[in-house]
Amino acid sequence: AQAQMLARAHEPAVTIDGVRIEIAANIATAADAAKAVTLGAESVGLLRTELLFLDRQTAPTQDEQRAAYQAVVDALEGRSAIIRTLDVGADKSLPYIQIPQEDNPALGQRGIRLSLAREALLTEQLRAILAVQPRSAVKIMLPMVTDLAELVATRGVLDRLAAEMGISERVELGVMIETPAAAVLADQLAQEADFFSVGSNDLTQYALCMDRTNPALAARVDALHPSVLRLLALAAQGAAGSGRWLGVCGAMASDPIAVPLLIGLGATELSVSPAVIPEIKSVVRQLNLAECQSVAQTVLQLTSAEAIRAYVRQVWPWLD
Ligand code: PEP
Ligand code: MG
Repeated sequence: AQAQMLARAHEPAVTIDGVRIEIAANIATAADAAKAVTLGAESVGLLRTELLFLDRQTAPTQDEQRAAYQAVVDALEGRSAIIRTLDVGADKSLPYIQIPQEDNPALGQRGIRLSLAREALLTEQLRAILAVQPRSAVKIMLPMVTDLAELVATRGVLDRLAAEMGISERVELGVMIETPAAAVLADQLAQEADFFSVGSNDLTQYALCMDRTNPALAARVDALHPSVLRLLALAAQGAAGSGRWLGVCGAMASDPIAVPLLIGLGATELSVSPAVIPEIKSVVRQLNLAECQSVAQTVLQLTSAEAIRAYVRQVWPWLD
């Protein structure tokens, strides 16, 4: 089975009833990108840019950033990359971005809030991204969005920079659904967002009010919690209302048990750890979307993550 899975790693993932699901990779470096391509990635669904900014005394220059993003795109050999803007907060100490000490960094000035408060940082990063060739290979995604105003403000900065750089075609700008606010307001965000990607790691943490890094809570910080699935369902409906696509880039997308529920709720792209790409493609190929949709509606009525997991295992005993 393992050998057969690897043999088909470079084929698309199409459900039994003929629906194609894009299988993308979560990466941080050009080396990751190269590895993801060898494992069958169809694109990069999440390029985390934090690594470039950590463990140094000064911010990476615009050209340093451009070179790093270009190296990723080059390694993708024609595939596209969704580059996420810097997602840091007071929990990471960057000597060149002074963030006052916070009692609750997970609830503090972080992600897009920080980028909009330090516009020089944002503009340098956006210019570096806009300089990557070919331009059409790159999309931009914003972390920790909570409302339309943050998206509109960033769109304004992006459009101004693109105009300055002589770029006339629209640069795609997407939003992570990783706060309950964004999930609930997805229909509003969909007026301006080109696409969505669910950050299930943070969405779970913030829905359940359980720190994703607290070992005492690890067993309970479960993305299959019915509250998280209902938020995801709401986000998918909001996206579909304006014809926007929705993917999932949190760790949930790499969990075979979650895959039928995610596609059943409307996700059309799953961005996963490169190592599991062959397996996730194989899972998709053994599912029927119509059945996934019906099971997804059923589990939304169940009362715990355990019950949901048990139900999914009963329907598809071959999963995991
Ligand atoms: C997430 O929150 O699910 C996500 C993909 O982002 P990160 O894990 O980098 O916070
Ligand atoms: Mg996150």
